[in-house]
Amino acid sequence: MDHVSGKTVLITGASRGIGAAAAREFARAGANVVLLARSREPIADLAGEIGETALAVPCDVSRYWEVSAAVDAAEATYGPVEVLVNNAGVIEPIARLVESDPEDWAKVQEINTLGVYHGMRAVLPGMIGRGRGTILTISSGAASRPMEGWSHYCASKAAVKMLTEQVHLEAGEAGVRAIGLSPGTVATEMQSQIKASGVNRVSQLDWSEHIPADWPAKALVWLAGPAADDLVGTEVSLRDEALRRRMGLDA
Ligand code: NAP
Repeated sequence: MDHVSGKTVLITGASRGIGAAAAREFARAGANVVLLARSREPIADLAGEIGETALAVPCDVSRYWEVSAAVDAAEATYGPVEVLVNNAGVIEPIARLVESDPEDWAKVQEINTLGVYHGMRAVLPGMIGRGRGTILTISSGAASRPMEGWSHYCASKAAVKMLTEQVHLEAGEAGVRAIGLSPGTVATEMQSQIKASGVNRVSQLDWSEHIPADWPAKALVWLAGPAADDLVGTEVSLRDEALRRRMGLDA
């Protein structure tokens, strides 16, 4: 996994779950990691645990100026952002469309959809100018099928699936690699919220059916490298056993 050694990797939603696991995994592979989330303490603690190759930057991805300032801070500390991991996302409040609160619904789009666009918009000029860079975006099976109570979430994941394709169309030839990752169900706080809702079949899954967060984290490091070059412009799923084997994850 030498391909990320010494590179600057910016990870949104790094305070827990998949984002925190990704930060540890990229750091282990030798990258300088920049950790973004709204909660200051968890990212500061994680940066302290990793050491001088980690920088914590409090940031709400729904505000473009905060994302842009975080990219500036990352580049001033470690140099150009070579890999962006668009991971920050929320699923609460879970509610059937007919009962959903319009302001809450819009807030989820601001984080899950606009937040991803903000990350892409902030790093693309530099990546296109340098002729290289990778943008990895965490999507979901929910991008491709409706799920009861998840209209806000499904719509946002369908949108970011399209944004990956859009980056590939507009910046692929300039050397920017964009790939979406659908991780399957992962044992994180988001799954606790889903379970507590009792809505739809995902809430009924046994906890043992979820994969650990370090699987998508390892997958992200792999996707950042040349072994994944044939996958650019697409969204891949960790449910795909052949792909998991390619990544060296237990099938
Ligand atoms: P999680 O444990 O709830 O973590 C979500 C992360 O997003 C936290 O670090 C949170 O930090 C951050 N975040 C939320 N709103 C933010 C905002 N406005 N600005 C910046 N950061 C924000 O969930 P997870 O399971 O790791 O989810 C990570 C990604 O994987 C999400 O995009 C999710 O949709 C996707 N995913 C998860 C699963 C699953 O089964 N867990 C399945 C498919 C896809 P703060 O609250 O501190 O801001």
